[in-house]
Order: sequence, then structure tokens, then C-alpha cells
Amino acid sequence: MEHSPHALAALTMQRINAYGLAPTPENFARIYYEISIKPLPLLVPDAGRILEAAPCDSIMRALQDLVAHTHDATDRLAAGLTDKQVAMNASAETLRQSRVPNDTMRQVVTLLAHASGLMELIETGRQELQQSQQALRQMEEKLAETTRELGIDALTNTLNRRGLANCLNRETARAKRHRDKLSVIMADLDNFKQINDTYGHEAGDLMIVHFAQLIRFVIRDADYVARFGGEEFVLILPEADQLHAEMVALRLQTILDKTPLWYGDREITVTFSAGIAEYRDNEEGAELLRRADTALYAAKAAGRNCFKLAT
Ligand code: GH3
Ligand code: MG
Ligand code: MG
Repeated sequence: MEHSPHALAALTMQRINAYGLAPTPENFARIYYEISIKPLPLLVPDAGRILEAAPCDSIMRALQDLVAHTHDATDRLAAGLTDKQVAMNASAETLRQSRVPNDTMRQVVTLLAHASGLMELIETGRQELQQSQQALRQMEEKLAETTRELGIDALTNTLNRRGLANCLNRETARAKRHRDKLSVIMADLDNFKQINDTYGHEAGDLMIVHFAQLIRFVIRDADYVARFGGEEFVLILPEADQLHAEMVALRLQTILDKTPLWYGDREITVTFSAGIAEYRDNEEGAELLRRADTALYAAKAAGRNCFKLAT
């Protein structure tokens, strides 16, 4: 059974907690590796599917399954009843032609009336179900739209650019108000195109999710992560100076080095480059980000797999 990086990372965290291990990159990498190469226990049936999907997605999917299932069932019932009604009509005709007593005929007619009442009920039910299915589709579209509006990236469940802009505005305002520190790291995977070219786009997507999970592992609860573009992420670290941000980048470098992505039976390794910028008094969020981006560019120019500090 193959598992997504989401599922693997979640199970790794579970194990680390269960074993009472320190949440170090080394322990994460060791347990992640252990889980990746061995089949997962059946204690968590279909954990991949459950953990992979955002909760809303799984609810929508369950609802769709339910409606589709009920739809099929009523279709079959309707078809079955139509057949039965035809057979009943034929039997009634036979009865009419043979000389049966009147009260038997009356009973047959009553029975037929009940049967056609039932047919109408089922037809109404079928139409209502069709409407529910349509309403469900609209809900799904609305949910996708709301998720985007809320500022969430659908692939990685991190903030999207809209979410990032809101978060940066809020955090720079807070840093200004409280004269607090604030740092950002802009991180981009190195030579990512080669991963797409060598292993395919699906592997590329999984690597992006994998990287996002590792970022989550190295940041604190109060920090934020946003997907800025394809395989480029921004980490927002409130109350963190440049030195702290450098330590976070170093931890991420260590953990990424020790935790390759398992794609089928293939091990895919990757590195990243980063630019680090510390908030300056009265600086706008966009300017802070621009300085981090320039530093990232310098890290790429310096040969990749390294990070540079913004000036
Ligand atoms: P560099 O070290 O200079 O960053 O090299 P790179 O190959 O990583 O170059 P760049 O960052 O310019 O290219 C990123 C590539 O990522 C281009 C695009 O085809 C791919 N990409 C963008 N978004 C996605 C995505 O959502 N999924 C996948 N699989 N690939 C993506
Ligand atoms: Mg890149
Ligand atoms: Mg890029």
C-alpha cells in the first residue's frame, strides 16, 4: 500500500510522540524512513486516504458516494417496479378474461392502485435526489471558491498568495506596534524541473507536499508557511531575529537531506536554496518579501543548496 507524504508525515509524528522521542530532524528522518520502506500496520486502515484529504473533501466525497449510491438504488427499484407493474397488468387482464368473482377483481384493482401510488412516490424521490446531486455539485464549487478566498493552497494546505499577503500585513503591523522582531525565509527547491522531467508531474506534486510537511515540522506553532509559487514557499517567523531564521533554515536543510521522498520504490532527493530577511522598522510586508527574494536569487547564483541573508 502506498502512502502520501501527508500520511507518512502524520504517522511519523504519531510514532515520535508514541515513542516519547525528541522531535529532532534526525528522529523524524529515522522514523519516516522506517515507515516508508516497511508496510504500514493495518491498525490504521486506509490512513493514507483519510489523512491525505482535507476534512471538507472527505465529507463531500462521502456525501457524493451516498447520493450516488441512493440514486442507483432508487433507479433499480423504479426499474424493478415498472417490470412488476407490467406483469401485474398482464395478470389483471388474464383475470378479467377468466370469470373470477367480483370481490377478487376489486382486490386486484385496489392492489394496482397501491402499486401505481408507490411508483409515483419513487419517481418523486428520484427527482428529489437529482436535485440534491445538483445542490451538492454547487456546494462543491462554492467550497473550492471559499477555500481559495480563505487563502489556502489546495495542494499543500498552506497559505496561498492571498493568505500570505494578509498574514504579512498583520504580522508587520504587529511587529511595528510592539517593536517585535519578525523574519521571513523564502525557500525554493533546486532544479525542480528535473524531478518533473525524470519522475513525472505527480512525483513533482508529491515532492511539493513533502517539502511543505517538512517545513511544518521545523517551524513553531506560531509561525506560518505559504506557498508562493510552484515549489517556492515563504516562512513567516514572528518574534524571530535573523539568527533564529538561519537556525530554522539549517534545520530544514538537515531534515530534507535526511528525508528523501519515496515514490513507489524510488528514492527522490532534493535540496533547496533560501533567502532570509529580518523586518526593519516601518517596512512594508511587500518590501520585506522583496529583500528575501533578492537574497534567494543570490543563493541560487552562489550554486544552490545554501541560504543568503538579505541586505
Ligand atoms: P532552480 O534551482 O533555479 O529553482 O531550478 P528549477 O528547475 O526549480 O526552476 P524553477 O523554480 O524556475 O522551475 C520550477 C518548475 O516547477 C517549473 C514548473 O514546471 C514546475 N511547477 C510549477 N508548479 C508546479 C506544480 O504545482 N506541480 C509540479 N509538479 N510542478 C510544478
Ligand atoms: Mg526551483
Ligand atoms: Mg521556483
